[in-house]
Amino acid sequence: MTGGPGVGVLLPAAGLGLRLGPGRPKALRTLLGEPLLVHAVRGLREVAAVGPIVVAAPGQDVEDVEARLAAFPGVTVVAGGVERPDSVRAALAAVPAEVRLVLVHDAARCLTPPRLVEAVIAALLTGAEAVVPVVPVADTVKSVRGDLVTATIERSSLRAVQTPQGFTRVLLERAHAAGAPGAHLHTDDAGLVEALGVAVRTVPGDEEAFKVTRPLDLEVAQAVLQRRRNRP
Ligand code: C5P
Repeated sequence: MTGGPGVGVLLPAAGLGLRLGPGRPKALRTLLGEPLLVHAVRGLREVAAVGPIVVAAPGQDVEDVEARLAAFPGVTVVAGGVERPDSVRAALAAVPAEVRLVLVHDAARCLTPPRLVEAVIAALLTGAEAVVPVVPVADTVKSVRGDLVTATIERSSLRAVQTPQGFTRVLLERAHAAGAPGAHLHTDDAGLVEALGVAVRTVPGDEEAFKVTRPLDLEVAQAVLQRRRNRP
């Protein structure tokens, strides 16, 4: 994309990461010496179509995050909120007015290959209003109540959903508008869009776009990063 403002990226990075165990907020945990957030921004900056990046950081860490990201052009840092949708809304409000397409990307998916970001943008540019990367589900998934199984969900139609998720800005703003029904129940942004009845398109995800959530994920991320450095 040339000439225009580029695609804006909202990078929610304000989560505490309690499932990782005690320590700094997740996006500031380090991977081979650098915070997850720095790895995430570096990957995004490899994508030519990416324009402004707005990071939603933990409120008490905004200045620290600004300093760590100072070397990257076009990055703004805002204070995130209590829940992920609050952080997304705070970042969305800081995206320059001329930006028409936006991605929402978890900072915790810090090793997302640039080619996946490009695939989501390509789907937006061919007219999709909302795009999510998806991968097949490896495990069998069941509903449970207490310690009893209530149902087995047919696996062939299930997909695990990753980020970046892409949207027209106008749609994402509508989806996040105050009073969106059950906003707190939606664990991703596409869920809010689905609640409006708008079609969400899928593109194939990438297993290296996994989200660092638990301690084992950090070990996997370190191995992936090490392998990339050894064999770029
Ligand atoms: O909690 P989870 O790991 O699913 O969070 C996904 C992303 O959302 C992470 O990058 C996290 O930092 C971000 N987040 C946020 N604000 C919150 C909670 C999570 O920006 N209040």
